[in-house]
Amino acid sequence: MKSIAEQRIQIYNSLSGTKEEFVPLHGNMVGMYVCGPTVYNNVHLGNCRTFISFDIIFRYLKHLGFKVRYVRNITDAGHLENDADEGEDRIAKKARIEEIEPMEVVQKYTVDFHKTLAKFNTLPPSIEPTATGHIVEQIELVKQILDAGFAYEVEGSVYFDVLKFNESSTYGKLSGRKLEDMIHNTRETSGQSEKHNPQDFALWKKAQPEHIMRWPSPWGDGFPGWHLECTAMSTKYLGKHFDIHGGGMDLKFPHHECEIAQGEAVSKCSPANYWVHANMLTLNGKKMAKSTGNNILPDEIFSGKNEIMERPFSPAVTRFFMLQAHYRSVLDFSNDAMLASEKGFSKLMQGLSLLDSLDTAKETTGFDFVEWSQKCFNAMNDDFNTPILIANLFDAVKFVQNVNDGRESITREDLNDLQKTLHNFVYDVLGLTEEQQGGDHYLEDALQLLIELRNDARKRKDFHTSDKIRDELSKAGIVLQDGPQKTTFTLK
Ligand code: AMP
Ligand code: ZN
Repeated sequence: MKSIAEQRIQIYNSLSGTKEEFVPLHGNMVGMYVCGPTVYNNVHLGNCRTFISFDIIFRYLKHLGFKVRYVRNITDAGHLENDADEGEDRIAKKARIEEIEPMEVVQKYTVDFHKTLAKFNTLPPSIEPTATGHIVEQIELVKQILDAGFAYEVEGSVYFDVLKFNESSTYGKLSGRKLEDMIHNTRETSGQSEKHNPQDFALWKKAQPEHIMRWPSPWGDGFPGWHLECTAMSTKYLGKHFDIHGGGMDLKFPHHECEIAQGEAVSKCSPANYWVHANMLTLNGKKMAKSTGNNILPDEIFSGKNEIMERPFSPAVTRFFMLQAHYRSVLDFSNDAMLASEKGFSKLMQGLSLLDSLDTAKETTGFDFVEWSQKCFNAMNDDFNTPILIANLFDAVKFVQNVNDGRESITREDLNDLQKTLHNFVYDVLGLTEEQQGGDHYLEDALQLLIELRNDARKRKDFHTSDKIRDELSKAGIVLQDGPQKTTFTLK
């Protein structure tokens, strides 16, 4: 098996549309920027999927020994109701509806975001900058883009000149859109908009008198455009050119396309080497979204208070459900999919707990540990393929069960290695946790008690009682398995 330092990762780069070998710009150091949430609402499960996907990338890179600076911003200003620079600021609108200060909205939903991601056991980023904390940097960036000749000012607002940019670069190269098609498909807006061209986007917007989130600038009181903050903050903390830029697939256009244009306008090079996009979580076949109401909140899953699930599911099971799909595939959320994930998760965890009690008084191991271990790395090296990794983990669990049933053998040394590798992948890389939230551990404790009562009954030769316990549990979907050392259970 290759050592950890010898593992080579292939990452799918949305910019080239191919998998490329990952070579960091600065040796062992990796800079990764991921667009964070707009904090005007509770994060739904779809948002969480994207942040869990990048948590896996962060964890795996760290596991391989990279020193990762992971920057994930909080959008607390500048994101308007629609992405075309129109409408109210989302946070200001919520503040008006709830009759509170915009910063109270920001505080409330930032706390919710942190609490929810912590339940999913995602690691905090290295830096979590806010848009409102970087107004100075954003104004500076607008000045630089103006100086470079890629922007113009109209009535206190500053717009990025997309046509000018397209003369020396390609606007649309990330999302695969052609500027000519965009122009062709846009209805004539001349006279209605102060933009020179409908494809231009706002770098700085003049604040109307009623707009409460406003800052002074060389162009008068206003607020930054949504795309600007990510360029300002990624440059500040990672430099003009860094390794990985990520976000959900729906951010490719216009957000990331505009970030590339802003970055190239001032530094003549694309901000990031690898553009990574996580695919969408759907519900009833449609994208989960705040705006359409087609979403479910994580707490509704953990409490069981929702109309989709027949019972509560723990954060670990929900995380496991997400990891069973590759991050670039669409994943549909449903009660049946969660039931299947719960079964799989419980099987994996039982396999891990069995490791502690295996009989190792044998001289041979009927399992090619080295080959299996490399297969686990290969799965993650291949664009962070968690479903293939999980399939490999189940191969090991099957072997562990066979050892427990006396059909296979393992030496003490191999058991130690197997235990270490399984723990590394399950807990460190996949970030799964043993603890069962949502009250599940009470059920597990009760089940252990029933197993003990049945074993006592068997010792007393009271087979009527022991069979009754086994049969009634089986009817409830819980199957007991008697191993030479202990009795375990699986869900049917
Ligand atoms: P927002 O707060 O709307 O800016 O979204 C935060 C992150 O969640 C972005 O990276 C989005 O791309 C991502 N996101 C939004 N909806 C979904 C979804 N249904 N599935 C996966 N990711 C999503
Ligand atoms: Zn962003």
